[in-house]
Amino acid sequence: MTALIAALLLGGGGGAFAVASLGPDASALPVRQVVEFVEPLPLQAQSEALDAHTFSVFTSAGVRQTDTIEALLSRLGINDPEAAGFLRQNTEVRALLVAGRTVSAEATDGRNLISLRARWVADDSGNFKRLVVERQNGLFTARIENVPLVPSLRVASGVVRSSLFATADEAGIPDQVTLQLAEIFGGDIDFHRGLRKGDRISVVYEALEADGEPLRPGRVVSAEFVNNGRNLEAMWFQEPGKRGGYFNFRGESLERAFLASPMEFSRVTSGFSMRLHPIHNTWRAHKGTDYGAPTGTPVRTVADGKVEFAGVMGGYGNVVQIAHGKGDTTLYAHLSRIDVRQGGSVERGQRIGAVGSTGWSTGPHLHFEFRENGVHRDPLEVARARAGQGVVLAAAARPDFERASRALRSQLAAAAAVVTQVAVATAR
Ligand SMILES: [Zn+2]
Repeated sequence: MTALIAALLLGGGGGAFAVASLGPDASALPVRQVVEFVEPLPLQAQSEALDAHTFSVFTSAGVRQTDTIEALLSRLGINDPEAAGFLRQNTEVRALLVAGRTVSAEATDGRNLISLRARWVADDSGNFKRLVVERQNGLFTARIENVPLVPSLRVASGVVRSSLFATADEAGIPDQVTLQLAEIFGGDIDFHRGLRKGDRISVVYEALEADGEPLRPGRVVSAEFVNNGRNLEAMWFQEPGKRGGYFNFRGESLERAFLASPMEFSRVTSGFSMRLHPIHNTWRAHKGTDYGAPTGTPVRTVADGKVEFAGVMGGYGNVVQIAHGKGDTTLYAHLSRIDVRQGGSVERGQRIGAVGSTGWSTGPHLHFEFRENGVHRDPLEVARARAGQGVVLAAAARPDFERASRALRSQLAAAAAVVTQVAVATAR
């Protein structure tokens, strides 16, 4: 019974970190009622049986900025003045219970503290720190342990309903992984404007775990993106002694000379996805792409190049124009701020200014143009057309690559299958 309650409580607390998308949504599954008749025990025997059992209660809670020791303990379900006194007076321990850290506790059924633990990563040594406060023979002790992080692979997947971040949140994908996905597919998908309802993401990524709880997400190992009917895939591969990179399953590098979007991808800009400019709906109508975003949102150059123009240009307001060689130029208009100088060099992804509403503009937005020998082109089409100049797989590396891609493909397929299952269950 003790074990069962502990397991249930753990499942409710720390278990929330597990990849939620792996199981179908329980509320969506059909419920079967089971009626069973139970012979009641005589009352006396029942209460005696209960007396014989004491059990531990496991809880966990995040430390908040405004927390007092009492507030934290109370959220952990602990009512223990002695424990509160120890934690309050021990300034070293108190200093370790900083906002954002998760604290887990074990308490008696009388709500007295048995032990308390907090974990965090202090450096890149591959270890984590574990603070352990324990009651032994009525006295509290505190110690800090240095424990190796355990790497593991996590699988998650989701269906796009609005923005990439909203999808990632629903699928339990950490922000660091979401940003990597935006980077990996940044040459193929404009995450601000190119996402479609029903797009699907599946991802396999590394997680570093402490006591079974993911403390730090690592690198994306592979991912699959079904965007507007197109199947995009990526896997990390590194030949011995070479720089690693992302490839599709055919072994073609995903590195692109051009990014699909001049907007830096972040939680802030993500919320502006799928918004169309009220005046122009497509780039064809006015030979550019508009990105609605708050004033001050960073704007980046989509490729390496030289700043041809940086200053005011009529209705464009504050403008940066960049030449990328071979007749390709890009233009960024209505900026509130310009961060580069005419004649200077820029690198792909470098911040060149910020969104504003200068010139003829109805509200804060970025107006972005791509020209090829002076002719306006759809920036997304160009980004896709310019093939990667990244790593080329050596023939000798092929067998290893094939082996790795087979394994990753089946993991991704498993993740995608779960999403489909959930979608079907929800639709029912
Ligand atoms: Zn425009």
